[in-house]
Amino acid sequence: MKIVTSVVEMIDLARTCRSGGSILALVPTMGALHRGHLSLLSIAGEHADCTVMSVFVNPTQFGPDEDYLKYPRTFDADCRAAESAGCDILFAPPVEEMYPPGHRTSVSVSGITERLCGASRPTHFRGVTTVVLKLFNIVNPHVAIFGAKDAQQATVIKRMVVDLHCPTRVIVGPIVREDDGLALSSRNGYLTPAERAVAPLIHRGLGNAEALFAGGERHADVLRDAVRNECAQSELIDPEYVEIVDQLTLEPLSLITSSALLAIACRMKESATRLIDNTLLGAVP
Ligand code: AMP
Repeated sequence: MKIVTSVVEMIDLARTCRSGGSILALVPTMGALHRGHLSLLSIAGEHADCTVMSVFVNPTQFGPDEDYLKYPRTFDADCRAAESAGCDILFAPPVEEMYPPGHRTSVSVSGITERLCGASRPTHFRGVTTVVLKLFNIVNPHVAIFGAKDAQQATVIKRMVVDLHCPTRVIVGPIVREDDGLALSSRNGYLTPAERAVAPLIHRGLGNAEALFAGGERHADVLRDAVRNECAQSELIDPEYVEIVDQLTLEPLSLITSSALLAIACRMKESATRLIDNTLLGAVP
């Protein structure tokens, strides 16, 4: 595995791979790699002969009171994990390479970035789309792989790719979970033991809604209550939102006529860790 830290070197290397006939796949991450990230690398390997994983804790997607400084940085372990998962190129630029002094340009997708997570994180998605477009311009991948765990992010990036005519195909990989159902996240390490013990209630709540949906329930308020009631079993879980929305427009639905995204964000009360999770109701597998 080659490790690249310079933008110019990454552009040259990706261009050489492309002109040699290779299909390139990009997996953008912020590091602290876990099985969820590595599953995206394995999907990348199915679609490409050269896989690039970026490891970059992107400052512009963190709000002023968020965890940018304390976000876990485990570079040596990330290199080992990426290499053993078959990564060909690990791109880990320093912040000044991605945001040179004097930078003034950002990318924002309007509307769909203002609800769900965007309501409490108003600058988050602008940071995400800006860094993802930069990565697309540097690597120029044929395909890019994102995780369904960040469902709104996937929707926003797909919108950007269409709107800005990016010649990259976006593939979304399924959520990887712990045995007890908790979605893997680099932020799970922040949880206190008591929070970690109750965190699977979030996934259980989604499962209860899935079961009701499978039984024919189509009212969003009933399905949302199923999630809320499960989470209410622990006072350590403070739901920020539980929403049922159209997967493409992210508009709230009151009655589900075909498929819908059921998404939740909660704040854990001891550590203030924010956890997100979701499921697609009625989606064709
Ligand atoms: P992050 O490092 O948190 O920015 O995540 C990088 C990519 O990994 C994003 O596309 C995430 O959606 C994806 N990802 C994070 N956690 C998981 C998970 N548990 N299962 C699948 N994909 C994930």
